[in-house]
Amino acid sequence: MFTSEAVPFAKTGGLADVSGALPLELAARGHRCIVVMPAYRHIYKAGIDIRPTDIGFAVQVSGRAVAARLLKAEVPNSSVEFYFVDQPHYFDRQGIYNEISGDYRDNCERFSFFCAAAAQAVECLGIDVDIAHVHDWPTALIPAYVATQHGGHRWYQRAATVITIHNLAYQGRFHSSDYHWTGMDWKYFNYRQMEYYGDLNLMKTGLVFADRLTTVSHTYAKEIQTAENGFGLDGVLRERADRLTGIVNGVDYHIWDPAKDPHLPKTYDVHSWRDGKAECRRQLSDELGIPFEPHLPLIGLVGRLADQKGWDLVIPLMHKWVHHYPAQWVILGTGDARYHESLGYLASQAGHRLALRLEFSDRLAHRIEAASDIFLMPSRFEPCGLNQLYSLKYGTPPVVHAVGGLVDTVTHASAENLAARSATGFVFHHYSVEALEHCLHQACEVFRHQPDTWKQIVETGMQQDWSWLRSAREYESVYSQAISDRQQRT
Ligand code: ADP
Repeated sequence: MFTSEAVPFAKTGGLADVSGALPLELAARGHRCIVVMPAYRHIYKAGIDIRPTDIGFAVQVSGRAVAARLLKAEVPNSSVEFYFVDQPHYFDRQGIYNEISGDYRDNCERFSFFCAAAAQAVECLGIDVDIAHVHDWPTALIPAYVATQHGGHRWYQRAATVITIHNLAYQGRFHSSDYHWTGMDWKYFNYRQMEYYGDLNLMKTGLVFADRLTTVSHTYAKEIQTAENGFGLDGVLRERADRLTGIVNGVDYHIWDPAKDPHLPKTYDVHSWRDGKAECRRQLSDELGIPFEPHLPLIGLVGRLADQKGWDLVIPLMHKWVHHYPAQWVILGTGDARYHESLGYLASQAGHRLALRLEFSDRLAHRIEAASDIFLMPSRFEPCGLNQLYSLKYGTPPVVHAVGGLVDTVTHASAENLAARSATGFVFHHYSVEALEHCLHQACEVFRHQPDTWKQIVETGMQQDWSWLRSAREYESVYSQAISDRQQRT
């Protein structure tokens, strides 16, 4: 598994949750799994012993030799081995891809280096690789290296490659003057392989060269093959549609389970959620400085402050609601400066109706999932989404826009679904403030006036199983297909 982020070492979003949890599940099922990722500055904060190995080597980066050293960690109760490529010039920085001032300007160089170094690391470790599984654009060069035998490593002869698209909006698109960092022959810089309208496109490179492609929900797998949602790569994806599979992410219930969550002041399960959530809310209200008003629905949001997440619906709606609608809000997020500003302004107007934290805090994310009554996730598009899955488990019915993984995982509280006892949340279809308002209003009304229906929705969601076991089995079958594709190629 080659990845640019993995829980518990480095995380900006759901990609890290997947790259951290899937190998653990696969290892528990008897596979030998090795994860290779960069040695960022903050990996040491995970509280896991990370030790140097005696493996060091020089990586050719555009004709220059750059030193790399391998570090190693083992996570408790698992056979998964984590290796970190250490090169302080590239990775000893405050951020992973960017800082508040924007993306690192040398990202193409940094992640090309990482891919070449990771490939060399596997060579040094002498592992017989069946599957090289890469994630998104930062590691997408590896399938190209394997397919073209670039670097000539022995393990390329055997390995089949799989790329998972976590978010097609981020493609690793760079000016052609960056192409030399990849180390690939210029003959691959053409519109059917690595070029995209004159630029280098690393995501496209992975999609073209990998044996198999996956993405993180069934609906997103279909959406990205359309011009509206394909971010310009829908043609490539349609061409490879027979190799593309949607697999909904799982949840790591060792980390996200209100019955044993160490971040919560009171743990709870499907039998004790009323008391548990009330106590979590009381403590969160104290901590964040808002009054404890349990008769009002507490609406929670946790997520990146990026256009994708629907803030252009949430902020206007909140301006309308904070003074007039009987609800409280809690928001945790960090990201684009303009959303920091507009949410900051909103908070200055909203008084005790809104608690806002503009930071990244795992602990608060857990506490908000538990304390809230309703979890809001009105994403414009959403490949899979994990927060809505966490909120199901935490007894916090989600209100979501009908896209991608949100459609695949949340069942709307329609009369029919309630009668079938399958409803788990509230879904709106048209991406507009009005549609969101209508849907959120419905959720708040059920919360306030129909306690039995609310109980049914909460408990149906809490009893669902979105664990990694199901997803891991689906990945295994994709791996088998990739291996047979690979054998046919040689
Ligand atoms: P994405 O990968 O697009 O960011 P997901 O819903 O798939 O969205 O995953 C987001 C993950 O990041 C979740 O685990 C969520 O709890 C976490 N997260 C996002 N923003 C924050 C934040 N400000 N503080 C703590 N955790 C956050």
